[in-house]
Amino acid sequence: GELTTDLLSTRVAATPEATALIDVETDREWSYAEFDERVDATTRALASLETDSSRIGVLMGTRPAFAVVFFATMRMGRTVVPLNVRETTETLAGKVERTDCETIVCDRETESTALEIADLADAGPVVSVDEPRAGTVEYLSDPTEDGVSSASDREIDPDDTQLIMFTSGTSGEPKGVRLTVGNLVASATASAFRLGVAPDDRWLCCLPMYHMGGLAPVLRSTLYGTTVVIQREFDPDETVAILEAYDVTGVSLVPTMCKRLLEGGWEPADSLRFVLLGGAPATEDLLERCLEAGVPVHPTYGMTETASQIATATPAEIRSHEGTVGRPLVGTEVTVVDDGGKPVSPGEPGELVVSGPTVTPGYLEDEQTAAAIGERGLHTGDIGYRDEGGRLWILNRRSDRIVTGGENVDPGEVIDALRSHPAVDDASVVGLPDEEWGERVAAVIVPVGDGLEYASVLEHSDERLAGFKRPKTLAAVDELPRTASGTVDREAVRERLLEDGV
Ligand code: ATP
Ligand code: MG
Repeated sequence: GELTTDLLSTRVAATPEATALIDVETDREWSYAEFDERVDATTRALASLETDSSRIGVLMGTRPAFAVVFFATMRMGRTVVPLNVRETTETLAGKVERTDCETIVCDRETESTALEIADLADAGPVVSVDEPRAGTVEYLSDPTEDGVSSASDREIDPDDTQLIMFTSGTSGEPKGVRLTVGNLVASATASAFRLGVAPDDRWLCCLPMYHMGGLAPVLRSTLYGTTVVIQREFDPDETVAILEAYDVTGVSLVPTMCKRLLEGGWEPADSLRFVLLGGAPATEDLLERCLEAGVPVHPTYGMTETASQIATATPAEIRSHEGTVGRPLVGTEVTVVDDGGKPVSPGEPGELVVSGPTVTPGYLEDEQTAAAIGERGLHTGDIGYRDEGGRLWILNRRSDRIVTGGENVDPGEVIDALRSHPAVDDASVVGLPDEEWGERVAAVIVPVGDGLEYASVLEHSDERLAGFKRPKTLAAVDELPRTASGTVDREAVRERLLEDGV
């Protein structure tokens, strides 16, 4: 690709005085000029470290310093490997090894974990953005504290790998996705274009920055010179208060967060223009409750491999076309193909294959790239369909399909049947190994209150489903186990059913 200057330098030249970041916790604000200065100082601090690796692990929750380190590595032409602070030390050490990171940037909260990871993975130096507690950690200096700086005009290549982002691991071991500067800029541009981002927009960022959902608002905002309000951790009451107090116009949430806001009686202000729901399917019930409460809900569809959403629906669209995730964003092409890879007609289900400027050039492991990226683009593993107007519907994942006695079962259909029972709030359906049938249908359900009767649920599903689709094993749980990005953790569901299903 062509050489370009980095996103933030372009922004600073245009609107240096505009507010870039607000940290709710400390109530501090940074203009784009100040943000840029901090990025520059961090660039120099990181460049002074002795390391051969171009990959930098970042072990931090959502905070302004994360955004600064992110843009500093972009400016240096290096690669950020965001590390999920909720994972175990062993898992993280494995990721550091797989990605060949040497430098690990941490903060006060993650300092001891970062040291353990470095020890296990034989990595280092470990540097902190807070004043370190242990002598073995270097102080990178808080990138958001004031200091001297000099302007930077380094040119960067859009094909540089800016990020190695791990998938949520819903269908197996998380995959390391390589995302280029070009992927990220294309994603920010296309989503901002679809949403009609305006200069006075204010985005609330309350998702983890070690997933695309948390980083995307920062990128989108920098591109358009709008403001990101940073909440370090989602908390329903506090989040509602922040949305009001900071006149937030846009926020990205995973469906479970949105559900919790509604349960707390959330009444959004008129200034709120977008609530993007992503990472996992939003139920019809949730969308209906959003519309009733006046939430400007925009369901989205996307994945780590496409640097966040590639389709978004408006509130009007979900009213007129129930269940849709909307049309693909500008530049993105979605083809629905059958098992043989041939495109199918509108209305017919198949696997979604995606191409366009936001699609990853590949995974860390070449075999995974070869398995997923074909002539027509990235095979998402998601089953869905499109209508004549180009709107998309997502049904389920290929890997979720249950084959029992040679018959295909769509877990979604079983989930819908279970959910239609008045005592069932939510459900997840998986296949368990079965000697006779190969797999058998099994379900965990979240009951609405006490006194759930399995027999009544089974009878209910008998009336609605063909025999081979009926759950043969059931278990009740208080809450569905979920991955950090909000998708149902099907492996945990399976384990739970194997432990104490009836
Ligand atoms: P892994 O790839 O490791 O199994 P993952 O696919 O859950 O994990 P992410 O990249 O975080 O990791 O999630 C993207 C996936 O989430 C999509 O491929 C799709 O299956 C699901 N998803 C995202 N948005 C929606 C939606 N609106 N409706 C249904 N599913 C969605
Ligand atoms: Mg995936």
